[in-house]
Amino acid sequence: MARRGRGSSYDGRMPSPHETETGSATGSGAVSATAAPAPVRSREDIDPRGRSRDRSWPPTPQPLPFPVIDNHCHLDFADGDQSLSVPEHVARAAAVGVDAQITIGSDLEAVRWTAALLASEACPPSLRGGVAVHPNEAALHARGTDHDGNPLISLGTALAEVSELLRGPGMVVVGETGLDWFRTSRQDSTARAAQIESFRAHIALAKELDLPLQIHDRDAHRDVLEILETDGAPERTVFHCFSGDAEFARTCVDRGYFLSFAGTVTFKNAGELRGALAEVGLGRVMVETDAPFLTPMPYRGRPNSSYLIPLTMATIADVTGVDLEKACRTIRATTQHVYDWPEAAAA
Ligand SMILES: [Zn+2]
Repeated sequence: MARRGRGSSYDGRMPSPHETETGSATGSGAVSATAAPAPVRSREDIDPRGRSRDRSWPPTPQPLPFPVIDNHCHLDFADGDQSLSVPEHVARAAAVGVDAQITIGSDLEAVRWTAALLASEACPPSLRGGVAVHPNEAALHARGTDHDGNPLISLGTALAEVSELLRGPGMVVVGETGLDWFRTSRQDSTARAAQIESFRAHIALAKELDLPLQIHDRDAHRDVLEILETDGAPERTVFHCFSGDAEFARTCVDRGYFLSFAGTVTFKNAGELRGALAEVGLGRVMVETDAPFLTPMPYRGRPNSSYLIPLTMATIADVTGVDLEKACRTIRATTQHVYDWPEAAAA
């Protein structure tokens, strides 16, 4: 995900079982046996250029001719003028042929939320999850304070908790981890070292648990490849929200990695990204939302949810020159293989 500011005041404490999560609460994060946990934080209302966003939900697109899986979203984030519950996100997605989702928890608050959701009796059966310490969070744990200056637990302790929770119910992937040289200055050697340490720990964890790895790579292609090469990539390695050019895509595919395309592939200025997709074709490609971020065109900037995947799938089919139904079937088969999820069989 592209972490764009936070509405949270997470302090790194382990909540007691019945303690309501703190944060810009849009609902209670308390775990209940009868209701799925509500989102615990909100996406900011201001866009990166300081303008207020249109927070209305985009209209529902035409259903897909064959169902696909959203392999990366953040259901812990609330967005929209009317916030949707987890079951509402799931139902809206299913109505357009997005019949399963993987929700990713990428800071400790979200990690705990995701684990609690998956362990809840109220968790929709079509949901799976993954957790990790996001590279930008790794830098904060190393520094010892969050964005508001509140103390954070050490990176080692955070990684240990991630390792523990990944062994819980419904966890199918280690992620998102990787390197983010966009948010962390090259001059900040402590933050850089923490990101690298964290990335390597997650690679080792994926191999230990025999789980796939989802990589967040922002302006760090070369270093990500080098670390994967040095440490040995997990058998199933996924570049989430793939952002490279045709040459980088070819390199990734030749090394046996998988590329997951988000709504960014529909953006007007994303010619290079479409070139990358056209270069490699559908063989090792998946689809995701990174919701509530990266809403596909023509709704860029508005709230995102898995029900908008048909817009991204239309572009993927168009760019690869493959019939939409065939593209959906191919991507679904790849996703089921990567996450070892045969029971997610389409009806
Ligand atoms: Zn993400």
